[in-house]
Amino acid sequence: MASMNPVRGTHDLLGEDILRHRHVEQTAFAVASRYGYSEIVTPIFEFTEVFARTLGDTSDIVTKEMYTFEDKGGERVTLRPEGTAGVARAFISGGLAQKLPLKLFYRGPMFRYERPQKGRQRQFNQIGAELLGVAGPLADVEIISLGAQILDELGLSEHVVCELNSLGDSESRNAYRECLVEYLEGHRDALSEDSRERMHRNPLRILDSKDEGDKAIVADAPLMSDSLNDESRRFFDDLRNGLEIAGVKYTLNPRMVRGLDYYCHSAFEFTTTALGAQGTVLGGGRYDGLIKQMGGQATPGIGWAAGVERLAMLVAGGIEKKRPIVIIPVGAEAADTALATTQRLRRDGFSVDLGFSGNLGKRMKRANALNARATVILGEDEIAREVATVRDMDSGEQAEVPLTALETHLDHFR
Ligand code: ATP
Ligand code: MG
Repeated sequence: MASMNPVRGTHDLLGEDILRHRHVEQTAFAVASRYGYSEIVTPIFEFTEVFARTLGDTSDIVTKEMYTFEDKGGERVTLRPEGTAGVARAFISGGLAQKLPLKLFYRGPMFRYERPQKGRQRQFNQIGAELLGVAGPLADVEIISLGAQILDELGLSEHVVCELNSLGDSESRNAYRECLVEYLEGHRDALSEDSRERMHRNPLRILDSKDEGDKAIVADAPLMSDSLNDESRRFFDDLRNGLEIAGVKYTLNPRMVRGLDYYCHSAFEFTTTALGAQGTVLGGGRYDGLIKQMGGQATPGIGWAAGVERLAMLVAGGIEKKRPIVIIPVGAEAADTALATTQRLRRDGFSVDLGFSGNLGKRMKRANALNARATVILGEDEIAREVATVRDMDSGEQAEVPLTALETHLDHFR
């Protein structure tokens, strides 16, 4: 039945996949917490305007990718396509301007109507960091270092590079915009229709185009770095100096612009060649104009987001799962003791599995499938003597242990 299939571009996460997924998130949260970031959870949907206003109405996300609908009360709402807009909305509606600087970390599902392929889904998960209220480049250094360290602790630092660029302040961007439009006008007929449309509304976006024809034209476009004014240049120098002191490696990519309208100064992406076309695992930048554009008090900000599925694909090898102790009752008489023992051990902090049915052979098989560290066999004869047979599943050694001493005996199998 078609309706019992998952919606295109969505996935169930279970088994190894969810372990890998959680490993990515937990590693990220542990590092972020060491950097002084605390968690924020914003709603999965917001008024459509929250995204339309912040992402800019020429962005791919707003023009093509949003899941927008009218709810029963006639409100237009959108499933969040990214995390920053919701955090910025929370900052304004929650009056958080009193609490600056603010260091926030989040995780959760995002929704974009895109063509599904490897590393690209319609519901996917991001982790992300936002640092609000710091205008100087030290904030940029910290937030990039945070990303780098998370990737490092996931064992990925060999597989990714940090690409860095500066978009400058608004004066520099306007100057660049003029050079760029002049150049693009010369190639107008060869540009894609989308890009021709964006030429005057948002020409920088064309640098990000995925159209092959556009890419060829963009390859010879003037460079942003040539339009940076003195102040922007100084900011960028300070950032680069800071990254060197912090020990974060990067390469300059003067052609990288981030897809969203609100970025200024630093733009960065951690990319890999290991995932084919979907090579960006983490991306972000500075968005000093965002909060004001949304109607709040002008507040500088910088942040990044990373795709959890893409990171999970890169994390090599199996994730270690805790090995349980498996209780095996033999015969109906053993059931009650088995249940009582199971609960006693679980309350004491052991990971314990008690199957629901089956004979000794079947239960042993399941213990193997669960990669049990030890089994506790309870037969009628054993119960009568108030003992259990404990089997070390690695060495095969067996020992008869008084039920009252089980915890002590099992301690080294925790
Ligand atoms: P791309 O160029 O791959 O479309 P993007 O610029 O749209 O990426 P961002 O909006 O910066 O991506 O999101 C940050 C990260 O979230 C990306 O680097 C990627 O790892 C992940 N991501 C974005 N879109 C998807 C998706 N549809 N499926 C899975 N992961 C995604
Ligand atoms: Mg995209």
